[in-house]
Amino acid sequence: MVVQKFGGTSVADPEAIRRLIEIVRTARTRDGRGPVVVVSAMSKVTDALLGIASTAGAGRPGDARPLTDALCERHKSAVRALVSGPAQAPLLAHIAGQFDQLADIVRALAILREVSPRTLDVVAAMGELLSSRIVAAALTEAGVPSDWVDARCAIVTDGEHTRATPLGPETGAALRKTIAPILDAGRVAVLGGFVGATIDGHTSTLGRGGSDYSGALVGAGIDASEIQIWTDVDGMMTADPRVVQSTHVVPRLSFEEASELAYFGAKVLHPSTILPAVAKNIPVKILNSRKFDGGGTLITGSSPVDEPLAALACKRHITVVDITSTRMLMAHGFLRKVFEVFERCRTAIDVVSTSEVSISVTIDDASRLEELVEELSAFADVRVEHDMAILCAVGDGLRRDPRLATRILGSLEHFPLRMVSQAASRRNVTVVLQDGVAAQAMNHLHDKFFARDAATSGARGLAS
Ligand code: ADP
Ligand code: ASP
Ligand code: MG
Repeated sequence: MVVQKFGGTSVADPEAIRRLIEIVRTARTRDGRGPVVVVSAMSKVTDALLGIASTAGAGRPGDARPLTDALCERHKSAVRALVSGPAQAPLLAHIAGQFDQLADIVRALAILREVSPRTLDVVAAMGELLSSRIVAAALTEAGVPSDWVDARCAIVTDGEHTRATPLGPETGAALRKTIAPILDAGRVAVLGGFVGATIDGHTSTLGRGGSDYSGALVGAGIDASEIQIWTDVDGMMTADPRVVQSTHVVPRLSFEEASELAYFGAKVLHPSTILPAVAKNIPVKILNSRKFDGGGTLITGSSPVDEPLAALACKRHITVVDITSTRMLMAHGFLRKVFEVFERCRTAIDVVSTSEVSISVTIDDASRLEELVEELSAFADVRVEHDMAILCAVGDGLRRDPRLATRILGSLEHFPLRMVSQAASRRNVTVVLQDGVAAQAMNHLHDKFFARDAATSGARGLAS
């Protein structure tokens, strides 16, 4: 039995939801049990909800009103298009009730002039809670009997609102309790991704793009045979298709490769998605919900192909922090002190490179940069450079062929590289350069290693 996660564009409108219904129906007919369906909010709804919260928090409730009305109407019109029977009226009433509640929250935020992470989660979660109810009703109406599961009763998280971490055993127990009876009754279970709740019942969310993570958590929780991520591209592509035009699908990836690619910017997969799948060795498939053709990317525990490079990834607009010891050489304990500052400021470091007297790190989230610089300046000279980019070439083959890293770096000879790093896993070669040239460098690397007719290639995409 499979878990099928559908992203925002795959539930964007009635037409997309009708495609979803056929995909679910096919899985149900094939497997005879399930599937469990995890859905994102309809596309752009989360952004709109967060926009409403910040407009309200800025004391402009009047500006939030048209946005709220438009969202309400979008959900209602999807219901009218997909659900006609006796289920329609209660669902429309439910949606109206939810938007009345949102209007109350908007008024409160406008008075308080402050949006706490906990309140933000209540607002952001609305998108998935509504889309999942609509999808459950639409499936049932289309002859695929389905039950809605409240994700707040199924995913248990810590209290780090807006980027909560699921609690493993609690979530496992909650998933089995909520989902197993529905599957046992021969029905499809539908729940919103991205959303959970703390042990004391406060709504939480797993961070932007977190529905993939929910899909994987559900898959691991109920021992699914496969976790399917249905999205708007044909699979994991050889590079970000928004940056490189000539990309093609990577048919096979190892868990480790997929993790690296997701972490370094391949947005098609949330970086935490692979963890629950690895824990239970469950294959993950990335598929296009517009193209029902059996293609896509299969991610498993093994790396079955010999080709060296799997794909490129790119993280744009990151910040480089150079930290130079104020003593001549790096004194004993210097690195520890540096990393403790990042830990205290809860800021994740992506890439590190060191020399005898200095260390350079990249950070994606610069929201606490001022505090970081102040603390580091107590024992080091600090220099900050904004608008940089990380470019990362990933492939298990890098372990097998020591010349490949040299070829990658050599092919970037015309681009000034700010940092270079290859970790012990030797699964990626990572460079940091100015964001202004990142797209050009990415295209250049892609031409060298992934172009279908490149003599120098041998990249995995060619095997497809
Ligand atoms: P969903 O709403 O289905 O979760 P996302 O927008 O989160 O979809 O992720 C899909 C998008 O990820 C694609 O439309 C594409 O623009 C982007 N993307 C970035 N890098 C890659 C990559 N290497 N392969 C595929 N898609 C990528
Ligand atoms: N709707 C959420 C977001 O836009 C989660 C997701 O789609 O994965 O970030
Ligand atoms: Mg996504």
